[in-house]
Amino acid sequence: MGRPDEMVDFTCQVLDPKSPWPCLGFLDARDLLGFALETPVFRTINLHIGRCRDCRPYVAARLEKSINAVSVFLLRAGRAKINQVDFTGVKAESANTVDRRAFFMHFFQSGAEAIRKGIWPEEGKKPLSKRAACAAILGDEEKEILELNQDIFPSLSIKQTCVACGNCARLCASRAMTSIDRVTFLELYHQPALCSGCGICIAHCPVGAIDTLQAGTLKKHKLIVIDFPHCLECGQIFQPAGSQGICFECMIKAKESIIK
Ligand code: SF4
Ligand code: SF4
Repeated sequence: MGRPDEMVDFTCQVLDPKSPWPCLGFLDARDLLGFALETPVFRTINLHIGRCRDCRPYVAARLEKSINAVSVFLLRAGRAKINQVDFTGVKAESANTVDRRAFFMHFFQSGAEAIRKGIWPEEGKKPLSKRAACAAILGDEEKEILELNQDIFPSLSIKQTCVACGNCARLCASRAMTSIDRVTFLELYHQPALCSGCGICIAHCPVGAIDTLQAGTLKKHKLIVIDFPHCLECGQIFQPAGSQGICFECMIKAKESIIK
């Protein structure tokens, strides 16, 4: 163990009632990686997960995986790995307990600065999320990260059974999934660096066409080009809201004829 001012500690309130973190389950691999890359090199980051094993074993398992995933990259980048602390007693004295609010604000500010420099200009006019901020920090490191570790960034694939409804892009709060309507066909794009892996797009795809897979790139890339279907009634091209085979106009007409 180094001197207290050489350490940065993440603890939860179960281990240390004075900690600003109720639970460390808020952390994910990308948050940790972004934070570690911005932390001065002389500091060791300690993540205290000893109590998590009893309190929330699934959080402990996920944090352990994140620590390993991030550490692989950090070691290759010539940085110290994240230190997993399994001790379950009161933590050793440290001058640098990480404040939760400051932690997330930090990502916001780093992202804004990186975008100002033009690393991710296409995101420049949109509100920043911590995902975008983290993506901005990592912008130039894509190749190395992908070579080293596939656990940090989720990616998606879409089967040809896609009906071009666009629900996935409409519902993605992170703007990781986007679409372009080309009149006769739909293009779907995905940006793994922004994807939180929340699974909302998967859950709301009416035909179960979306699968997760390992990311081949962190940048925005085309997932699929899919023709809009032809209405089974009138034959015109239309964008379905789900898996229905007829267009909105024909649905209205059918409904009106039933009411009459
Ligand atoms: S998993 Fe979530 S964040 Fe990722 S593309 Fe789907 S809806 Fe967007
Ligand atoms: S069918 Fe599924 S994958 Fe295709 S656009 Fe709709 S929600 Fe997205």
